[in-house]
Amino acid sequence: MIDSSPHSMPKDTGWIEVITGCMFSGKTEELIRRLRRAQIANQKVKIFKPQIDTRYSANSIVSHNEQSLPSIMINDINEIKTLIEDAQVIGIDEAQFFSNDIIDICNELADKGKRVIVAGLDQDYKGVPFEPMPQLLAVAEYITKTLAICLECGNPADRTQRKTALPGRVVVGTSDIYEARCRKCHYIPEEA
Ligand code: ZN
Repeated sequence: MIDSSPHSMPKDTGWIEVITGCMFSGKTEELIRRLRRAQIANQKVKIFKPQIDTRYSANSIVSHNEQSLPSIMINDINEIKTLIEDAQVIGIDEAQFFSNDIIDICNELADKGKRVIVAGLDQDYKGVPFEPMPQLLAVAEYITKTLAICLECGNPADRTQRKTALPGRVVVGTSDIYEARCRKCHYIPEEA
């Protein structure tokens, strides 16, 4: 976990922080916490999320415990370039839904002195690494892996169990379709 007190932050440079884990592990909650602290310090913050994620709100990022911050919804990660203006801190939620262009973009922003905080799922519902998250983990200075609690056995959980037989990697849903599971209790559902 990054110590986000101002004293521990690098000076005169940008950097990338990645918050990653399964669903219901508190990724968005942690993203909101960091962004709020930056806002309290009067830093200019801009927050982005993909068009695909309208589960809770079209113009906010919202955690499962119903904390929220206003955000800008974009289709293509390249749209960020014209939208960040003079923001010092850039938050990106649900990064697994963006293209691999996000890697170069995050690097460019960090090179320009921005603090970039990215949250996203590290594995799909089959337990396969979910691009572009593995690549983002490789270029990030700070990585936080959040764990949930397995709904079957109570162990720490890092997998997302799809509870239905819907086909396809991207099926947007919440606890109606998904739950957190540990390695032992997770299985790949047979596709319909
Ligand atoms: Zn379990």
